[in-house]
Amino acid sequence: MTRVAVIGTGVIGAMTTWRLALRGAEVLAFDTYGPGHDRGASAGESRIFRTAYKEGPGYVPLLQRAEALWRELEDGAGADLLTMCGGLTIGPPEHPDVLAVRRCAEDAGLDHEVLDTEQARKRFPQHRIDDGEVMVLDPAAGVLRPEPCVQAALRSAEAAGARILPYHPVTDAAETANGWRITSNDTAFEVDHVIFAPGPWARQLAPLRDLPVEARLITAYWFAARDVAAHSPASLPIAIRRHAEAGFSCFPALDGVAIKIVPHHLGWPDLDGPDDLPRSSSPEHARAAAAAAAKLLPGVTPHPVRVGTFAEGFTPDEHALLGPLPGHHEATVMTGFSGHGFKLAPAFGEIGADLALDGGTSHDITTLDPNRFLL
Ligand SMILES: Cc1cc2nc3c(=O)[nH]c(=O)nc-3n(C[C@H](O)[C@H](O)[C@H](O)COP(=O)(O)OP(=O)(O)OC[C@H]3O[C@@H](n4cnc5c(N)ncnc54)[C@H](O)[C@@H]3O)c2cc1C
Repeated sequence: MTRVAVIGTGVIGAMTTWRLALRGAEVLAFDTYGPGHDRGASAGESRIFRTAYKEGPGYVPLLQRAEALWRELEDGAGADLLTMCGGLTIGPPEHPDVLAVRRCAEDAGLDHEVLDTEQARKRFPQHRIDDGEVMVLDPAAGVLRPEPCVQAALRSAEAAGARILPYHPVTDAAETANGWRITSNDTAFEVDHVIFAPGPWARQLAPLRDLPVEARLITAYWFAARDVAAHSPASLPIAIRRHAEAGFSCFPALDGVAIKIVPHHLGWPDLDGPDDLPRSSSPEHARAAAAAAAKLLPGVTPHPVRVGTFAEGFTPDEHALLGPLPGHHEATVMTGFSGHGFKLAPAFGEIGADLALDGGTSHDITTLDPNRFLL
């Protein structure tokens, strides 16, 4: 039986642990914190799933595989994780993201609808639409619940025989003649293969020190909806909003109170490291987010009722690093998901298990090759 250590049980490590355990590997899954914690990238109540992908049609087969695996996880864990409420990309028709979503849907032959200004205003009055703006509706989109997703994957992995080790920071990972020695809490664990899934902490692990992964801050704001039913997943799709004055992703109300937005136009500031994550936002940042809500979301009270700050690992081209770790044997790296890795995590987990157990995968991951920055 192949012994595999997974370092990090955010969504990527959790999904990889699950897929490895199902394939019969002997898995040890380490994390500094508890499953579903809120200091890294895999927490904050909601995550967008979408299939018409502005990041490129090359992702579509992976997204479709991820959707099937989310359903498999739900069935196995008896959990409700993904609600397909549809997804909107909203903005001027010539905006690059609006064009990219339309192009992806057309190239990949995906169902979609383009709503002109009047149709958009009528169907989704929760968004304020300027003259000339359009909406692209992707029916194969929805909202995921991140904390239950991570916990369901780890529960299922444990049921299949994995050993989950929360509060086990890995302080050393050293290559040996036959594999790797992983040190945590003064104990050494010998394994055949190691999967590094440390999210924004990547450069704190010596074998990953030279990878171009920067820890950055992403802030989310919740605004109370005046009519909660009209802002629930039954009535309001997830959205990517593009406007001359603001841009954000928008999530329907899951808590019976508030919708969430993640402002994009305010940028993702660098952190010295994820351990320097501030636990709230600056008044200037909050005021700018509130101004975006006041301008573009007529059904909310534009003062945040909740703020969440999270650390995420970004690469220079904002595509992940996923593949064999350059310069090492029997090591896989999975990091730098750059603000869009959650929805794909079960497919990435399947790929991580393929790489550890087969030394390759049938999924096309050439654009994610960690060597692309080292050549
Ligand atoms: C606010 C926000 C909104 C987002 N919105 C979306 C969205 O709508 N849709 C989408 O698809 N994606 C979205 N993303 C991106 C997505 O959530 C991330 O890409 C994904 O969660 C990355 O997961 P991860 O497992 O790589 O990292 P993390 O969740 O950060 O997990 C890394 C884990 O490794 C552990 N670790 C690190 N070092 C060690 C060590 N030495 N020893 C032991 N454990 C260690 C950490 O404790 C942590 O638990 C968003 C991200 C953020 C932050």
